[in-house]
Amino acid sequence: MIKRAYIDLELCQQSEDCDAMEYCGKEAIHYDGGMIFVDQECNGCGKCKDHCANKAIKIV
Ligand code: SF4
Repeated sequence: MIKRAYIDLELCQQSEDCDAMEYCGKEAIHYDGGMIFVDQECNGCGKCKDHCANKAIKIV
């Protein structure tokens, strides 16, 4: 089963300045329409997780 980054919307501040976005080598994290989301390019590597100040990212 392929793992992916999951964003907990109760913890995520939905900021366009999200640090985790910068660390994704697949450019799989996006900000659009006031929301942060992860697209299908995510390979579950987990790099983003360590850079989320709100601990809103889980690899599941
Ligand atoms: S798990 Fe890896 S590929 Fe997926 S969004 Fe995070 S940094 Fe990008």
